Amino acid sequence: MKILCFIYTLLFGLTVHGQQTVRYTLTHTPNSNNIEVAINFEPMKAEEVYLIVPRSAPGTYSLTNYMAFVEQVVGTSTKGTMAKGTIGDGSFFTFEAEGELLSQVSYRVDLEKMETQLLDGGASSKSRTNYVGLLGYSVFGFVEGLEGNPIELTLKTAPSWPIFSTLAPTMDRPKGSASFQVGNFGALADGQYTLGEDSQIYQVPNAPIPLFVAIYSETEVNLEEIGRRGLLALNGLKDFYGYVPMPHYTIYEEFINPKSDRHDYGFSMEHLNSMTYTGDLSRAVTSYDPKAHIGGIVHHMGHSWIPLRSYGTGYRPFAWQVAPLIETIWLNEGFTWYISYAYVLERPSILNFYRRNMDEAPNFIKEKSLKELSLLGSSQYAADFRIGKNLFSRGALLAHDLDMEIQKETNGQKSIKDALLGLLQWTETNQRAFEYEEIEPIMSKATGVDLHGIWAQWHGSKFD
Ligand SMILES: [Zn+2]
Repeated sequence: MKILCFIYTLLFGLTVHGQQTVRYTLTHTPNSNNIEVAINFEPMKAEEVYLIVPRSAPGTYSLTNYMAFVEQVVGTSTKGTMAKGTIGDGSFFTFEAEGELLSQVSYRVDLEKMETQLLDGGASSKSRTNYVGLLGYSVFGFVEGLEGNPIELTLKTAPSWPIFSTLAPTMDRPKGSASFQVGNFGALADGQYTLGEDSQIYQVPNAPIPLFVAIYSETEVNLEEIGRRGLLALNGLKDFYGYVPMPHYTIYEEFINPKSDRHDYGFSMEHLNSMTYTGDLSRAVTSYDPKAHIGGIVHHMGHSWIPLRSYGTGYRPFAWQVAPLIETIWLNEGFTWYISYAYVLERPSILNFYRRNMDEAPNFIKEKSLKELSLLGSSQYAADFRIGKNLFSRGALLAHDLDMEIQKETNGQKSIKDALLGLLQWTETNQRAFEYEEIEPIMSKATGVDLHGIWAQWHGSKFD
C-alpha cells in the first residue's frame, strides 16, 4: 500500500498545501460531434465517488439538464477494471465496484444532441465542421469533494486546430493540444473553450487590460468593430468604478443559423473574465456604427464587478447540482442595469422603462416582495421574463432612490458608486457572500448616509 501511495503521489502531485491537483483531459475527435472528458484523481473508495454534472451556474438563474447529454460514464479502478456509472436520484452518477479504489471517471458529451434539445441557444456548446465552442459548465462535471481542488486541464483535438480559452486568452494559440492551470472547479466551469480554425480571435489595441474578441460566425462579421464597442464599454465602467478587477477579458460571440424555429437566440451570459452571446445571423456586427447600442456589453461586462466579485448567499459557493435559491437577483441585475444606463451610457430616461415594467407586471409578480421574487427568479428568471424584467426594474429603481438619497445627504459628495464600492471592498475583506441583513448596513457605512428608510420602503412593512 505504501508503494502504491508513493506512486500515486508521484503521478498526481501534491500542491504545497497538500491539496491534490485533479487532472481533466478533454478530447475532441475530429469529424465527430462528441467530446470525451476524463477526470483523474487520487484513489477513492468506489462507493464514495459521485460524479456531479452541473444543472445550473451562477447568473443563469435556470435549471438545465446537462446530464441528459452525458453518455458512456465509466469509473476506472487502480487495477484497471471498469465500472459503469449509474444515474443517481439527482444530477450525478455513482459507481458499483465493491472493494475497489477508483482513480478515474470518464464520460462522453453529445454536443449535437445538446444543441438540438436546449432551445435556449446561449445555453449549449456547439459543434461544427471546423469549430467546437464549449461552455465550461455544460461539459465539465466534478467528483464530489474535489470541487475546491486545483485543476490541470488538457484539451486535445486535431493537430491543425488552434485552441483558445477565456482562462488565458492569447493571439498565439497552441494547436492540437493545450494545458491550463485552473484554481478550482468553479473557475473551470466559468471558462469557455474554442477549438478549430473557424474560431476567430482579435485582441483590441490600447485597452487597460488585455481585451479579446472571440467569434464564431456563419456570416460576415467585423471583429474590430465588436472590439471597439467592447473597449468603449470597458473604459466607461473603468471610469465609473475607478478600477478594473479583471486580469483580462474576452467578448465571446456566436452568430449562427438557428437550429430550429423554436430555438431562442439573443441572450448573453456573464462570467468572471468573459461574456458569451449567441445570436442569429441578423445580429452579426458588420460595420462601424458610432451610434451602436452597447448597453448589452456594458451590462454583462459590468457584472464582472457585481455580482461576480461581490454577491449574496447562494451565488457562490454555488450548489451546482440544483438551481440554488438566491435572494439578491434584484441587486445583481438591477444595480448593474442602473449604473450601466444612468452613468456609463448617460441615459437617465431608462427609469421610465423600469417603471413601465413594474406597472405592466401581472399580479402574481407584483404581490411578491423583493426577496420572494428573487427566490422565484433563481430558477425562472428568463423562463418567464416578466419575472426577470420585474427583478431588474425594481432593483434599478431601488438603486436610483438610494443614489438620490446619498447625493442629497452628502451634498453630491457621494453617490451609489460609493455604496457599490463599499460592497466590493467588503467582499474583498471578508471573502464570503454577504447575508441579506448585511447589505443595507454595508452601504450605509460606506456612504455615511443612513439608508435604512429607503431600504424599508422597498421591502414593505413586513421586511421578510
Ligand atoms: Zn445581467
